[in-house]
Amino acid sequence: MHEGHAEGADCREAVERLYFFLDGELTIERRAVIQRHLDECSDCIEAYEFEVELRTAIARGCRESVPDALRLRVYNALNGEGTIGPI
Ligand SMILES: [Zn+2]
Repeated sequence: MHEGHAEGADCREAVERLYFFLDGELTIERRAVIQRHLDECSDCIEAYEFEVELRTAIARGCRESVPDALRLRVYNALNGEGTIGPI
């Protein structure tokens, strides 16, 4: 346990901060603490990798769906069946 250790992070803290870590919303010092915990803790690195894969899948899905939605809006506009609405 790293209880009371100023520079350590326990599993609960690491998981709680995982989202902020991935969003780049932590200070450099905080990122270093979480990164070090992930390097040492197989449970947390699994949670981290799962989250990364999930985000990659979501990002991939978005990239594919955006052009389709855009094409449909253009198609509808060209055919007078709709207007280009707000994105
Ligand atoms: Zn851990």
